[in-house]
Amino acid sequence: MTTNQKIPFGRPWISTQEREAVLRVLEGPILTHGPECAAFEEEFGAFMGGGARCVTVSSCMAALHLAWFHLGIGAGDEIICPAMTHVATAHAIELTGATPVFADCDPQTGNIDPAAVEALVSPRTRGITLVHYLGMPCDMDAIMTIAGRHGLYVVEDCALAVGSRLHGKHVGLFGDAGCFSFYPVKHMTTGEGGMFVSASADTAGQAAHKRAFGVDRTHSTRRMPGIYDVDVLGLNYRMSELQAALGRCQLGRMEEISRRRKENFKTLSEGLSAVEGIRVLGPALPDAEWSPYCLTVMLEGRLAARREDVAQGLRAAGVGFSVYYPHPVPRMTYYSEKYGWRDGMFPNAAAISDASVALPVGPHLGDVEMQHIAQTFGKIVKEL
Ligand SMILES: *Cc1c(COP(=O)(O)O)cnc(C)c1O
Repeated sequence: MTTNQKIPFGRPWISTQEREAVLRVLEGPILTHGPECAAFEEEFGAFMGGGARCVTVSSCMAALHLAWFHLGIGAGDEIICPAMTHVATAHAIELTGATPVFADCDPQTGNIDPAAVEALVSPRTRGITLVHYLGMPCDMDAIMTIAGRHGLYVVEDCALAVGSRLHGKHVGLFGDAGCFSFYPVKHMTTGEGGMFVSASADTAGQAAHKRAFGVDRTHSTRRMPGIYDVDVLGLNYRMSELQAALGRCQLGRMEEISRRRKENFKTLSEGLSAVEGIRVLGPALPDAEWSPYCLTVMLEGRLAARREDVAQGLRAAGVGFSVYYPHPVPRMTYYSEKYGWRDGMFPNAAAISDASVALPVGPHLGDVEMQHIAQTFGKIVKEL
């Protein structure tokens, strides 16, 4: 993205409230393991509803790895994984020694295709992971049915899905664990950070324990300073108090962030509806609430090969954009060298990677920008 951009793809919404909250932490004695993280966990759980138990972590990737680490998967196990996702979803499996087995997505939504999942179940399969792509809830009824039939774990990557629900239940609460990201351009931010969520208090409790080295007690419960024991293998994936203080302020604005994102999405898709040769990814399932991360346009027919020109036009007009995601994960060098790649594999995911443009709908933008983006897009496409 260029610096003369008038409409950035994403911009963190940081107010005086956030600045003051972070400074308050710095003025006190507790920088980690403290009340801000505990309060953020409580408040995020209340926001999600449905009995969500939350554990602050250092990133979404950390949450995903913690989930599989906790579930005890490893060498010889297979986990079915979307081809169309951030590489973190697959890396979290690789790190345990297990094998991600990729499944293609639905061409309309970009979400993992349950029929493709079902076809990949083998005697080695131990779990399914999925991403609620662009925040659109996956077909969890179908996924949980497959998981139940074969006794598989389910880990939901909710990095782009804060505020998205299906049948009134927040995503992340259908499977064994849900993993959220607070990276700067996502729905809300803590700079870097994430949340591990489970509907099971036992899973969340054990994950919280393993997130902090497997130490058997927190600072406040140590009778003798410096004395503790470790009863399980663990990691250090903690979030700091500074980040949690920031996150609590952002969460307080989440309803507004979600509302603005939905309005922007609606205005932009209406503005684009008259443009020929394109299609907007979606819609979400019936009975789903979609807190959209961005609006992804598929270039179709002769336009499919012209993305470079569309990008050039958007850059020249100062409209920020991105691509989600730049490759199907199995086409990325690490994965293609390890597992092999041929053109024609995962055609739906490849089409999204190669012929889509993600446009911004973030709360830093409003009607004026949405109309400008739609007009600019229409003009660029018409002149090609
Ligand atoms: C951004 C993203 C991640 C990584 O999040 P971090 O918090 O940066 O680790 C993981 N999964 C998906 C689907 C993402 O979009």
